[in-house]
Amino acid sequence: MRSKDQETDRRAPAQLVAVQGRGVLPAKKHVATADDLGLTRGDGVFDATRVVTASDGVSRVDNLGLHLDRLDRSLQKLAGERIDRDAWQQLVDEAVVNWRHPGESVLKMMHTRGPESASGLPLMVLTITPMSAAALAARDGLRITTLCRGTASDAHRDAPWLLGGVKTLSYATNMAAGREAARRGVDDVLFTSTDGYCLEGPTSSLVVARDGVLLTTPHEGTGILDSITQAVIFAKAAKDGWRTEYKLMKPKELAKADGVWLVSSGRGAAPVLELDGKQLAQDAKLTRKVNKYAGFR
Ligand code: PLP
Repeated sequence: MRSKDQETDRRAPAQLVAVQGRGVLPAKKHVATADDLGLTRGDGVFDATRVVTASDGVSRVDNLGLHLDRLDRSLQKLAGERIDRDAWQQLVDEAVVNWRHPGESVLKMMHTRGPESASGLPLMVLTITPMSAAALAARDGLRITTLCRGTASDAHRDAPWLLGGVKTLSYATNMAAGREAARRGVDDVLFTSTDGYCLEGPTSSLVVARDGVLLTTPHEGTGILDSITQAVIFAKAAKDGWRTEYKLMKPKELAKADGVWLVSSGRGAAPVLELDGKQLAQDAKLTRKVNKYAGFR
């Protein structure tokens, strides 16, 4: 007879775990030592992207090269080190061949600085997990709140040690912001600076359409992540005749926009329905177009 746990496992979405040097492992196997710096200090970097698996079990990974490039930039900024790109590529290839669940999932690649007791031995671990219901629901639209991140829009200009724009494993404040949104009865957050400008979401970037121009927050000085989804949207939109611009915007400017989206590699472009209780313009055709630019249909 199957135990209750086994029944739960059978129904629960599967997760694949793979570790550099060990390959694909059973999902519940321990992968880190108790003194791993990623665990004890959040000292490490990660990146994440979407995997799309067809009904025959064959998968494609969205923009893997760009995500490995950013993982490498993150590690250089965090520790002055480079990722082992070939090892990552091999680990991803092995994992993806073993992942045969049709549909959308998220590939997460984590590179920690390894055990405190054995410096120079990074832990490289990845997971593939089915796309969450929340990510899928976000595509229908988000009600969001602004939350001040507590720094000025130029706070990161001469302070690289603050690790602005680095995808570190220290995402506790981002997660706490998401919980604050839930407490306020909304779906997500748009961080703002102390001087009142829009920055980014806790796990997404801001894209705004206004009068034929696509806009987003500048990276320089603001400390926001250089979103791959936003970059891909801008590149495709520019080829399609849009002007694109990096501009600091106040939340009240978003009320005059033709469309506002929180974009990320998992969700694509999620339209913002409501910001701080005020409805924003909706244009389903434009949302479809922006998602098409992002590689989402
Ligand atoms: N900003 C932050 C803080 C993020 O964590 C993410 C993604 O997780 C993004 C923006 C969007 O980046 P991308 O489009 O590369 O997924």
